[in-house]
Amino acid sequence: MTSDQLLTTPDTALPTLRGAVAGLPSYVPGRRSAGLDIAALASNESHYAPLPAASAAVSEAAGTMNRYPDSAAVELRERLARHLGVTAGEVAVGPGSVGVLQQIITGLCDAGDEVIFAWRSFEAYPILVELAGARPVRIPLDDAEGHDLEAMAAAVTDRTKVILLCTPNNPTGVPISHERIEAFLRSVRSDILVVVDEAYVEYAEAGSGPDSLSLYRRYPNVCILRTFSKAYGLAGLRVGYAVAAPAIAEGLRRTALPFAVSALAQKAAIASLDAGDEMEARVAAVKQERARMAAELEAQGWKLQPSQGNFLWIRADDTLREVLVEAFDRADILVRGYQGDGVRITVADPAANDRVLRLLAAHAG
Ligand SMILES: *Cc1c(COP(=O)(O)O)cnc(C)c1O
Repeated sequence: MTSDQLLTTPDTALPTLRGAVAGLPSYVPGRRSAGLDIAALASNESHYAPLPAASAAVSEAAGTMNRYPDSAAVELRERLARHLGVTAGEVAVGPGSVGVLQQIITGLCDAGDEVIFAWRSFEAYPILVELAGARPVRIPLDDAEGHDLEAMAAAVTDRTKVILLCTPNNPTGVPISHERIEAFLRSVRSDILVVVDEAYVEYAEAGSGPDSLSLYRRYPNVCILRTFSKAYGLAGLRVGYAVAAPAIAEGLRRTALPFAVSALAQKAAIASLDAGDEMEARVAAVKQERARMAAELEAQGWKLQPSQGNFLWIRADDTLREVLVEAFDRADILVRGYQGDGVRITVADPAANDRVLRLLAAHAG
């Protein structure tokens, strides 16, 4: 039966989606990077193949796919606890840090509760908040593309349950300093969960952003969110984690979809932590390329804020954005355009980065 043959007439009522769901943006699939010449610079993935130890761990675990994984992810949580200097009780894992963030929002927010975040920031934030029936409160970035923490503190109401801080911020690359976050934490109620999303923390220069673990130790309403998707190169396996006060972490583990993090992902994450030096060498190469590109773009006449992520951000009105995205597309370079705001380009290998530089040279001015 095709959809044309479905037994509906104009007055047959169909089940309706919740308003919050109907209002969500549909996922628009990007061009797949199928061809050899296509540079995939739209999703801030690692351009490196997975760490050899992670691939080996996945191959070894493949024979257990008939079994459910350890739903409590005990081994991974204990390994993370050792890595971070916390206890396993303070760690919750999920299918990507987006999965953990969904556990946070649904675990803390009732309908109508408010979640404050900067805008523009990570696109998943408003989607997860609306899906939970909570209210997104977007606070515009400041003139330097960073979080306006004073405005965010001023936006707190009785209904505020969660505040999301993204450092370095996706898509602008601007971090929030330790001192500014600490002053912010002193000014907001301790019953508001302040989530510090550090998806790109490995790429940040030491001291540019917060020492989030020390903040967490002194402010128990801090929740640190990290992922294996970016610097560790496991985007396709879906594993991320939160560090939070034991009672909160325990609640997050209870809100998780059962068995959401596969055994393959758990094993690969452990192997990746064990191979931290190799990850760091790759990150160092990306940071070197980031500096080279920023210097060259400045020489071309582009005005960019220094990025602490594995991406560069070009503020652009819609006219320039459309010109750039189209030019990149024609050159088989996939980048991310944001309506009204600009273009984000992932830093990758020198050859792909050179293609970006050549293209932008033609549009500088
Ligand atoms: C990529 C990204 C994540 C991580 O996503 P995963 O679900 O872990 O793949 C989280 N936060 C931000 C800001 C990101 O850019």
